[in-house]
Amino acid sequence: MPVDESAELQQLIMMSGQAPDDQVEGVLLRLNQAGSYGRVAPGRDSIVISAFGDREMIRSLALEDIPGVEKVLPVSKPYKLVSADAAAERTVIQVRGRRIGGDNFGLIAGPCTVESREQTLETARAVNAAGATMLRGGAFKPRTSPYSFQGLGSEALAILAEAREDTGLPLVTEVLDPRQLEEVVATADVLQIGARNMQNFLLLAEVGKTDKPVLLKRGASASLEELLMAAEYILKEGNPRVILCERGIKTFERSTRFTLDISAVPVLQEETHLPVIVDPSHPAGRRELVPALARAAVAAGADGIIVEAHPAPEEALCDGPHLIPTSRFAAFAEEITRLVGVMGKQVG
Ligand code: PEP
Ligand code: MN
Repeated sequence: MPVDESAELQQLIMMSGQAPDDQVEGVLLRLNQAGSYGRVAPGRDSIVISAFGDREMIRSLALEDIPGVEKVLPVSKPYKLVSADAAAERTVIQVRGRRIGGDNFGLIAGPCTVESREQTLETARAVNAAGATMLRGGAFKPRTSPYSFQGLGSEALAILAEAREDTGLPLVTEVLDPRQLEEVVATADVLQIGARNMQNFLLLAEVGKTDKPVLLKRGASASLEELLMAAEYILKEGNPRVILCERGIKTFERSTRFTLDISAVPVLQEETHLPVIVDPSHPAGRRELVPALARAAVAAGADGIIVEAHPAPEEALCDGPHLIPTSRFAAFAEEITRLVGVMGKQVG
């Protein structure tokens, strides 16, 4: 049987050093029959077989019952609290009556950046009328260039609070630095950790000490394991309410701004009990592609999307090319909502 080199090590099967060959063969055969495989490391006192393949499948083989097997040691993942094994059910995150996770799909929308009171209120009202469940908006912006607009900061938080008052939508906004945390926590309903800060471990630990849900975005060059380890920092501090977000990664492909790694959705949902959402805006880089990426996210089983919209994208101070005009947002939301229904979920 060909060996799948990408299969993961799941268990170490310990046998006595005196175990006869046919007992060792018995274990290998059982693994092979299940589409898994074992590698034998013979020793004087013990023989160790490393079992590679699907975790649940190998677990169901009950290898400990095979003659000659003394002990089976599961190889635990480096992340623990975020692991799917650590919770009996998938985590559902509730914020001001809105839910993300389980059968509840979060439709988070709003401006990339809070530029003015009018622009933010107009966007908030449009996305709310279209059925969005949360409002996003950047107050403190992580910009590649120090000369680009850095966000309105405290003034933006006040504008977002007004938009929440006006629409009832819970607020998602980014915190860049532990020094801003107290101020952002005072206004935000959900703390966003952006891609550039995914491995800012000090910041992760600090948001882990708050009682606010955290929307953690995948770094553009981070593996899914690194994303899960970053989430582990937050849970380790006592905050279990983390939403993971795939937002595109850097590849050689130049036709989009980032490559949306759609397989991140099922892979993460297999690995963790935390909700997994997708940002179709930043990877697209241009608005024409956003609906297709958003549909792909829903079809892949995502627990939500976070999308950027603007009343006049051509005048936007940040990310103009991929912003959905608010005039087109209702049609976009309607299509997504229908697809969410097809997936057996509801926009929550
Ligand atoms: C954002 O959502 O505003 C943002 C800056 O995204 P990212 O951190 O994914 O680049
Ligand atoms: Mn943006």
